[in-house]
Amino acid sequence: MTSIPSLMAKIDFASGTIDGCPVTRRTLSQVGSSFADAAALREALSRGDPLLYTVSTCGWGAGSADLHCGLGILYPGRVGDEYFMTRGHMHARKEAPEMYVGIRGRGVMLMQQGDGTGAQAVEMSGACLVYVPGGTAHRTVNTGDEPLVYLGIYAADAGHDYESVRLHDFTSVVLRRGGGPVVVPRSEYLSSLHSNRKP
Ligand code: MN
Repeated sequence: MTSIPSLMAKIDFASGTIDGCPVTRRTLSQVGSSFADAAALREALSRGDPLLYTVSTCGWGAGSADLHCGLGILYPGRVGDEYFMTRGHMHARKEAPEMYVGIRGRGVMLMQQGDGTGAQAVEMSGACLVYVPGGTAHRTVNTGDEPLVYLGIYAADAGHDYESVRLHDFTSVVLRRGGGPVVVPRSEYLSSLHSNRKP
């Protein structure tokens, strides 16, 4: 009997794995420079290097008409006032969009154009869809107390461009203020840190 190649993979949302697919793990030291508060980052790293998120990627084909999928689990926590976040990226093939399917948890999707304009913060809460249009840098932030779990579905040849985000960092930060999340311009947060630490 000929076996049929499987077009199905089991997902384990608790462990963040898709059966038979590789998992990338990112710890605080690998994401560090994304956090605006350098002093809080140094302090956090002096206590250890916690796991921030994992992404399990899965795909059946590699052509431009094929789709790939990433299962992300972003753990809760903060560096200073900033909630844990992913590094964020654009797609190497700029026009390639992405559909995020929120599974559980609370968070924010930060998006902006490649040149840093047009910043948007979209709330993610429980089961939801977030569309990331082509040409958009995107980063998820966990503003809750539980893991933020989501699937991202994108063109197989979309690729990842981290350099654009390094050159044009996200212009907004997501901070805990008064017990809940607020979205603040990075420049405003940086000057508040500066004025607080220099008498
Ligand atoms: Mn993406």
